Amino acid sequence: MWSFHHRAPFYVRGGSMQSRKTTDTIAAIATAMSNSGIGIIRVSGSESIGIVSRIFKSKKEGKTLLQVPSHTVHYGVIQDGDEVLDEVLVLVMKGPHSYTAEDTVEIDCHGGVMVMKKILETVIKYGAKPAEPGEFTKRAFLNGRIDLSQAEAVIDVIQAKNEYAVKSSVSQLKGSVSRKVREIRDNILYQVAYIESALDDPEHISLVGYSEALLKTLEPIVKDVDKMIRSADNGRVVAEGVKTVILGKPNAGKSSLMNVLLGQERAIVTEIAGTTRDTLEEQIQLHGISLNIIDTAGIRDTEDVVEKIGVLRARNVADEADLIIYVVDGSRILDENDEMIIDLIQDRKAIVILNKSDLAMLISKEELAEKTRHQVIAVSAKEETGIDELEQAIRAMFYAGEIDFNDEIMITNVRHKTALIDTKESLAMVQEGIFNGMPEDFLTIDLMNAFEALGTIIGEAVGEDLINEIFSEFCMGK
Ligand code: GDP
Repeated sequence: MWSFHHRAPFYVRGGSMQSRKTTDTIAAIATAMSNSGIGIIRVSGSESIGIVSRIFKSKKEGKTLLQVPSHTVHYGVIQDGDEVLDEVLVLVMKGPHSYTAEDTVEIDCHGGVMVMKKILETVIKYGAKPAEPGEFTKRAFLNGRIDLSQAEAVIDVIQAKNEYAVKSSVSQLKGSVSRKVREIRDNILYQVAYIESALDDPEHISLVGYSEALLKTLEPIVKDVDKMIRSADNGRVVAEGVKTVILGKPNAGKSSLMNVLLGQERAIVTEIAGTTRDTLEEQIQLHGISLNIIDTAGIRDTEDVVEKIGVLRARNVADEADLIIYVVDGSRILDENDEMIIDLIQDRKAIVILNKSDLAMLISKEELAEKTRHQVIAVSAKEETGIDELEQAIRAMFYAGEIDFNDEIMITNVRHKTALIDTKESLAMVQEGIFNGMPEDFLTIDLMNAFEALGTIIGEAVGEDLINEIFSEFCMGK
């Protein structure tokens, strides 16, 4: 057998995590705290069925929850002594086949805030503890039913702002990220185990030529890690939207275009040059992608102080943007303002709008494309033509083809991205070590670092503080 004699401790599934398992039975209102059709009070823990059985009276004479089979629904009332609180349906789910993997009871009651509170208070009076935010999901994690990246996906599903964000978090919830991470970890661990075994038993296991083989093994791993890191940018775009800035000289039609995209008169459209002084931010939904549009004062050289703030801000915003939409007034000739913008959008993701195509054009689409070296779309913000083409262009730009969430792993979580970057750095150290002819047992140090960094993604080898922080992001009852 090999041992990790000179390594930092690492945890295996079900190892140190188990010791944190709590035994209290917890309860919370799982639905929104507003008056609605139904409300759900969730109770989880070994005492959950016992506690609810004491306050639940079945419509069927003599029936008690203590004897019902798992995954059954029961009709009756919740009462505290003689006082009937509500007519309810009670769901009994025995562990490990429940969300938390513990015995769980859900009380479906009427969705009034007062009723829900009253029932929760009663459940607590009869022995349950109020759950902390995210505690149900935390238990599912601590009980080994889901891993940390899946638990985080639960938060993301709840907070998803658009269709793609929902899809990517559901895929993460189903374990797409965890599977890949586990696969890589297993491979790394195998290498460490091999080295350790060879060092312990040099007579039978040889390390001759091993370094070269390891270098080959690492190649696809590093590629996979890299791909996941790169997907984080897409992932951010999916989760938060494309940060978009609209540039163009005054009166080119930026506000008008934005209004068309927004479908409402939000920005002030005016005929006086340079009145859109401040920046506005609006979010629009575009076939499932969110565009966070920042309208700016436009870019031009000016002595006007207020304008200047706008111009400076425009430059800064443009630097941060994922996408620049450059609006050109096709009825006027290009001037030095346009030259400046064209210069600014070189090597950036940009789409050029040849606006006012309803008027007599002084510049052609081809000319503009050649000059800006970006895709040009003829639009009339006034007559709302060319907008579909613009939407399609943006979509194509961010998602070449359909995103296939079944095989594409999307990293949408900053914590995961950081862990992957750490992994990549450790793997690079291993590669460097091999090039420099380092002895194998040195390589295992960096291999283990990579292994541990990956472990933090799925919740193995992470500290209690981090776990508490992650779960505190949940709302009550989740
Ligand atoms: P901004 O300064 O770039 O935000 O430009 P605005 O959106 O305020 O538009 C300036 C002027 O151009 C307004 O009078 C708009 O009505 C007009 N305008 C904007 N788009 C079009 C267009 O496609 N066709 C025509 N004919 N006029 C437009």
